[in-house]
Amino acid sequence: MDLEEEAYNIIRRHKDGVFQNVIWKELDIDSRKCSRIVKKLLDKDLIVREVGVSNGARTYLLKAKEEVKEKYDLLLAGEMFSSCTGCSFDCEPEYCGKLSEWIGNLRAEESGELQEIEEIEEAEENEEDFRDQEEAEEGV
Ligand code: SF4
Repeated sequence: MDLEEEAYNIIRRHKDGVFQNVIWKELDIDSRKCSRIVKKLLDKDLIVREVGVSNGARTYLLKAKEEVKEKYDLLLAGEMFSSCTGCSFDCEPEYCGKLSEWIGNLRAEESGELQEIEEIEEAEENEEDFRDQEEAEEGV
């Protein structure tokens, strides 16, 4: 995950907005670098920025745009953005390691969901078996 994605995830986590100085501290980068990352997110129209004051210092309050967030989710495999998001390389997708890795994460996430469904189904079957056993014992 690159810094831009991490910054965006931090902003998304704070539904009421987060001060820009919190982001650069959390990412352990300097404020100028953070400003460049924020500018990229603003240019992509993913966030909004308001002037604010944090601990007496002038900073910006950043918020994720909800309607864009939903579209952004489609580009995520777990916490990881699609490798093609913002990619400007000339590419041959069939040979791209980044894309293969992202697809691998999609598969891993899907198998995790399948495992969860299987566990729920197994628990339901066990509960049915238990009820059948109880009914059989009462009938005896
Ligand atoms: S397939 Fe690879 S090179 Fe092509 S756009 Fe996606 S990440 Fe970039």
